[in-house]
Amino acid sequence: MCYAIPGRITGIKDNIVSVEYFGEQKKARNEFFDLKIGDYAYAQGGFIIQKISEREALPVLESWKELFFKLQEIDSQLIQKDPKTLYQRANNLRQKYHGNSCCTHGIIEFSNYCGMDCFYCGIRKSNSKLARYRMSLDEILEAARFAVHKLRFKALVLQSGEDPWYDEEKLVYLVKKIRQDSPSLIILSLGERDFGLYERLYKEGARSVLLRFETANLDLYAQLRPGRELKNRVELIGKLHKLGYLVMTGFLIGLPGEKEEDIKKNIELTNALAADMFSFGPFIPHPDTPLANTPLVHTETVLNTIANARVLNPKAQILVNTSFETLDRANALRSGLMAGANSLMINVTPRKYQRFYDIYPERAGVEEDVEMRIENIVKLLRSIGRAPTDLGL
Ligand code: SAM
Ligand code: SF4
Repeated sequence: MCYAIPGRITGIKDNIVSVEYFGEQKKARNEFFDLKIGDYAYAQGGFIIQKISEREALPVLESWKELFFKLQEIDSQLIQKDPKTLYQRANNLRQKYHGNSCCTHGIIEFSNYCGMDCFYCGIRKSNSKLARYRMSLDEILEAARFAVHKLRFKALVLQSGEDPWYDEEKLVYLVKKIRQDSPSLIILSLGERDFGLYERLYKEGARSVLLRFETANLDLYAQLRPGRELKNRVELIGKLHKLGYLVMTGFLIGLPGEKEEDIKKNIELTNALAADMFSFGPFIPHPDTPLANTPLVHTETVLNTIANARVLNPKAQILVNTSFETLDRANALRSGLMAGANSLMINVTPRKYQRFYDIYPERAGVEEDVEMRIENIVKLLRSIGRAPTDLGL
């Protein structure tokens, strides 16, 4: 089972390399490796993240050769030649700009301590009912090793509450060691930490951030995130993008008081922030938060949001978020991927911690055997002709 296909380097111009996959050419940024034409490497999110020998690459390519084209064929058969609905149009755009590749990122939720009190979130600091955990640095490194070497992920999200216990020294150590031991695209999801910290982690090799602005509605933002202002979050996201990070950002759908035009504004702000990946999902009320009694949002609202985001920005990666899977366990992944999405995340947090990362109740995938979950997801992806790969830019 593979999450990325090694490509052959066919061209080099400064730090941009051309990578070939079964005749298809893609571009990727190479900032870390000494590469020459003919070498093999893995790319994720448009960055070269690992150089490998020909001896390692060829058997992987051999195992993918037939499947690669077969999956493309299945995907093409499912495309409507004359798209009539919004979802069909979005799916056509997804295929036109991304082919059948589907990013599959692993996520390690390493601490549920948080200094913030967001009204929507079950791990907010005022929730005194929740048992708190912090994974040690060794535990995090071990989880990363398992995800990369055993499960073969090539992109890892490191997520936590806003927890200053993980200071610059600890986070630098983590990023350095993960780069050394578990080559992958490192995606930071640490909340609103200092820009200087993000700068330092970029230097050490982290290349992506997942930081949602949550809502473009100024009043709602101020109300739901006490002590914080939307403009600061947006400014930080913009600065991180400028620094070179791949930006994954987005919002919650269905916050109380939200109107349809707010969703439109949310999509537009995600786009205006030059998001490489749109990350949004339904708000699911948590019983131990002030928003406990908010009604659940409709599945169609989420699907429409995915499809509208795709139409607005055909080139972005669009995620089917775990909260959508939680809202509609049976269909969310398939219907999201058929309505314009091309990416998903799988929880690789050690099982004993998963249920304490209780941002909302009964999260999909929690405490399921991760290998079984991957197997089921791959089955689903194959049935709709998607390859769990990320083929660079
Ligand atoms: N603390 C960091 C931050 O806020 O950016 C990262 C962790 S936070 C738990 C990750 C995301 O979870 C938030 O951006 C928010 O959109 C989402 N989230 C929090 N509570 C949620 C809920 N009740 N339903 C759905 N998503 C939720
Ligand atoms: Fe903390 Fe993030 Fe939850 Fe807000 S959303 S309470 S910052 S973990």
